[in-house]
Amino acid sequence: VTKIGVLTSGGDAPGMNAAVRAVVRTGIYYGLEVYGIMRGYTGMVENDIIPMHSRSVANIIQRGGTILKTARCKEFLQKEGRQKAYNNLKDLGIDGLVIIGGDGSFRGADVFSREFDIPCIGIPGTIDKDIAGTDFTIGFDTAVNTAVESIDKIRDTADAHDRLFIIEVMGRDAGYIALHSGIATGAEHILIPERKTDMEELISSLQEKERRKKLVNMVVVAEGDEFGGGDQVAALVKERLPNVDTRLCILGHIQRGGSPTCLDRLIASRMGYSAVECLLEGRHNVMVGILNNRMQYTLLEKAVKSKQKISDEWMKIVKILAS
Ligand code: ADP
Repeated sequence: VTKIGVLTSGGDAPGMNAAVRAVVRTGIYYGLEVYGIMRGYTGMVENDIIPMHSRSVANIIQRGGTILKTARCKEFLQKEGRQKAYNNLKDLGIDGLVIIGGDGSFRGADVFSREFDIPCIGIPGTIDKDIAGTDFTIGFDTAVNTAVESIDKIRDTADAHDRLFIIEVMGRDAGYIALHSGIATGAEHILIPERKTDMEELISSLQEKERRKKLVNMVVVAEGDEFGGGDQVAALVKERLPNVDTRLCILGHIQRGGSPTCLDRLIASRMGYSAVECLLEGRHNVMVGILNNRMQYTLLEKAVKSKQKISDEWMKIVKILAS
């Protein structure tokens, strides 16, 4: 490879900038020309591609969001759109791609690299941590720390008023943000898509805590849980426990923003560097991940299909510690 393109695609995640910076600077270090592709696959289709220099990525390691912008691109789902994208890359002489995004973006990269002769390397950038082949995804640590800070604040006010709080966190169909932030804030119950929740048990446990005059009760709900998120859970609880002062708080998009944590900056830097090395070594269609503190290369198709598992032990710990 001599010219590479880098893009951020799909849902944004704090730390993506740190990854872009690492790709650009590692590429330049190895004598490659590096291009930034704007707004994910949209920039590829619409030829919105700009040359990147060392200075283009100055002062961004600490910034949330992504300077390359991100988007969801309908045209890229069609062969014609991908053909257009390929033609644009060919015209510029781009012969390698680094895609920072989630499973949807990897699916797109996988399809694209099978159709055309451009090696694609994926970097997992998603707050949801729903990608196999890596212990970390860029943005998760920041998102979960934002959730923890917010839930701590809710605990203060819940304590002052003796209220039950239902708190919805993000994660799409994965429960990691809920599980981690729930445990770290001492939530009584954590509802995640990976586990069935016995609503009767939940209600009677809340009733019992009410009887014991337990002061703070917090239920952390993943947006993708089986009941349909915080709204639904709050409605169910209010219906069953009309005498309990129940409040709902949906944390929402604040979880996507903010300055990335040290961990997210570290893994973004390491993965960005490693993605360029992959291209230089002639690897293609893999995602770079970190497993047991070592770089791990997983075929893009495998990174998208499987999900990480949540251990039963964590669920047991939640139960024991919330009593
Ligand atoms: P994320 O990467 O955060 O999971 P999306 O699921 O929205 O985000 O995917 C990002 C983009 O990847 C989509 O807008 C689309 O352009 C592209 N993409 C996703 N799936 C495919 C597919 N099967 N074929 C081609 N492109 C795809």
